[in-house]
Amino acid sequence: MTIPTIEANVIEVMDISGNQPCGECSHCKHEGLEAAIDWDKLDPAIVAVAVKASEGLNYEDPCFRFHCAGVRRAARALIAYHYLRIRHTTPQDAAAQAAQFVALLAREKIEYAAVDVETKFNEHATPEDAHEAVHDFLASFATYGAALLVYTSPGEWEGWNLHVTLPQASAFQLWLADYEAHAHVPPPWKSFLLWQYDGKGKIDGVRGDVDRSRSYCTLISLLEALTPTG
Ligand SMILES: [Zn+2]
Repeated sequence: MTIPTIEANVIEVMDISGNQPCGECSHCKHEGLEAAIDWDKLDPAIVAVAVKASEGLNYEDPCFRFHCAGVRRAARALIAYHYLRIRHTTPQDAAAQAAQFVALLAREKIEYAAVDVETKFNEHATPEDAHEAVHDFLASFATYGAALLVYTSPGEWEGWNLHVTLPQASAFQLWLADYEAHAHVPPPWKSFLLWQYDGKGKIDGVRGDVDRSRSYCTLISLLEALTPTG
């Protein structure tokens, strides 16, 4: 694929989950999984790391707190994300998911957050289900006074018609997932803050494939954009 010419500031970010075992949690130990990331050898180009915190209701990623410790040891900016469960079999309460996610952010003292909106495990969600869940999650999260990135792809967002039904999403920053050379920004956004451009990235210090994103700004301006203003 073609990566656009870099003219100004650009920063590189990776996001991790249980796909990159921490090697330290009870789950990893039980499964005999070795750590996928050598934090001391992480490519210095990676200035921020997004860590999966939770998914749906009542599920914290077992590697979450260990990944957070690794990011901090490596002195990178830390973003936590929640994977929104809308409807796989039965619908899941999105406002309650937001409340649980906020509690995890508070526990780990994390300031920067994202919500992952995609169709995997949400295959049975109708556009109405998706609208209600994303709306409720954003509204519930907003009451905590924190900033939030919305991670989604144009095909999934527009497939659920959210580009038409959820104009209030423009109050949140977009983390766009689009592996095409010329990324398409779905309405209501006009631009993205972060762009996940590669789902099979290679990064020094990380074993196996990893998601890579970039932002056309400085780390300081990225974090400022994620800092609550109210
Ligand atoms: Zn683990």
